[in-house]
Amino acid sequence: MKIYSLSKNITAFLLAWTMLVLPSAAIGQTRISLPKNKYKVQDDVKLGQQASAEVERQMPILNDSEATRYIQQVGDRLVDAIPAQFSQPAFNYRFKVVNASDINAFALPGGPMYVNRGMIEAARTEGEMAGVMAHEIAHIALRHGTSQATKQSNPLNQIGTIGLILGGAILGGQTGAQAGMIGAQAIMTKYSRDYENQADILGAQIMAGAGYDPRDLANMFRTIERQSGGSRAPEWLSSHPNPANRYETINREAQLLRISPNNAVQDTRAFQNIQNRLSRMPRAQTMAEMSQNAPRQDGGQNPAANGRYENSVQYPSARTRNYSSGNWISINVPENWQTLEDQSQVWFAPQGAYGNNGITHGALIGVSQSNSNNLAQASEEYVNQLLQSNSYLRQQSNFTRANIGGRQGYSTVLGGRSNITGRNEIVTIYTALLRNGTLFHAAMVAPENEYSRYQSAFRNVLGSIRLND
Ligand SMILES: [Zn+2]
Repeated sequence: MKIYSLSKNITAFLLAWTMLVLPSAAIGQTRISLPKNKYKVQDDVKLGQQASAEVERQMPILNDSEATRYIQQVGDRLVDAIPAQFSQPAFNYRFKVVNASDINAFALPGGPMYVNRGMIEAARTEGEMAGVMAHEIAHIALRHGTSQATKQSNPLNQIGTIGLILGGAILGGQTGAQAGMIGAQAIMTKYSRDYENQADILGAQIMAGAGYDPRDLANMFRTIERQSGGSRAPEWLSSHPNPANRYETINREAQLLRISPNNAVQDTRAFQNIQNRLSRMPRAQTMAEMSQNAPRQDGGQNPAANGRYENSVQYPSARTRNYSSGNWISINVPENWQTLEDQSQVWFAPQGAYGNNGITHGALIGVSQSNSNNLAQASEEYVNQLLQSNSYLRQQSNFTRANIGGRQGYSTVLGGRSNITGRNEIVTIYTALLRNGTLFHAAMVAPENEYSRYQSAFRNVLGSIRLND
C-alpha cells in the first residue's frame, strides 16, 4: 500500500503572540525575556541534530576547510558574547557554509547554523556578515524554534519533529517547487514579528559584546536590499521583512549599547581573504536551480524510496520498541520494524517490505487535514484518498466503531491484489479525530496469507497508541 504525502501544510512555526520585548524603564540595553517553552533544552538539541542531518543530506555544504574554519571563528566570537542568562551549556553552536548563491542564513534549534556562500559574498564587511549571524544565534539562544512549536496547536506540524518537517521541504518538496525557494528557510526562519524583534535586539547586544558595531546588523539589511534588484533573490529578507523599521530599531538599540567606535571590528583581512577565495570557486547555484535539478517523487517525498522489496519478510518480533514524537503521540512497534518518516506520516516496516511503491507489511500512522470536523466524513474522505492512490484496493467492510488511544474512532478493511507481492493484501484502517479537528489515522498492512502471523502484532501496536493532543 502506498500513500504519498497528503499534506501541503508544512508551514510550521509561524504565528504571532504577545509582546516579548520589554523596553526597560531605566537607561541601558533593552531587557529581553525568554519566551514560554514547554520543551526541554535537550529537545532543542535533539531536534537540531535531526534537522541538521536532513539539511546536510539535502543541501550542498561547502567543503572548504578554510572557509569553514573562518565562519566558525566568527561564530565562536559571537557565541562567547551571548548574555549569561541565555547561555545554554547543552547547546553546540557550529557553523557551516552552504554552497548556494542565495543571500541566506538560517539556524536550527540547539546550535547548528548555516550561512550561504551568497550571504558571505554579499556582505560589505565582516561586521555585516557577523550581524546576520548574531541575529540567527539569538534565535537559537532564545529557543525560538521550540517556543513557536509550544504555541503550535496543529499536531501536523509536530508529528516527527522539526527534522521531519524539514524532510522533503528543502529540495523537491512542494513548497520548494511552488515558491521557487527552499522550504527550510521558509519554515525555520519564519518567526513571528516579536521573535524577529527579539533576535534583532539580542543580536545587536551580542554584536556589541563581541566587539562588533551593532549598527552593522542594520547595515546588512540595507546591503541585502540593494542586492535585491539583481538576479539573486534576497531569501533572507523574505523571511525577515520590514527592513526599514528594523534598521531603526537596531540603531536605536545600538545607542543604548556600549561600543567603542575605535575598537569595533568592521572588517578584517580574513574576511577579504575568504571573499577572494570564494570568488575564485565555480559559481554556486541558487537553491531554486538545485531544486529544479533534484529528482522528484510523485506528489512529494516518499520516505520508503530507498528500500527494496524481498520475497520473504521477517515476521514481527515479539519485542517492541517505543516511538514517540512531539510529545503528542506514543506507539510501540515490533523491534524489527524500521521507522520511515515524512512530513505528515510515519511508516513502520521490516526490511524487504518497503520501497518506491509503499509498504507490503507493517503499519503507518499520520495526520491529515480534513474539510469537516465530523469523524465519519473525515474518515470517508481519507479512505477515498487511499483508494485513489491504490487503485487495486477495494473497501471490504463498512466503518465500525473502534477504540483508538482511548477515544472513539472508526475502523474499516480494504483488500486487493498487490502488484508488488502478487498476493492479496489486507489493509485495516483506524481513524480518530484530534482535538483540533485534524484526522489521526493508522493503517496495518500485510498479505492475506500471512495476516494471521501479524494479527497479534497489529493488535499490540493499536493498543499501544497514546494520543496526547
Ligand atoms: Zn530572524
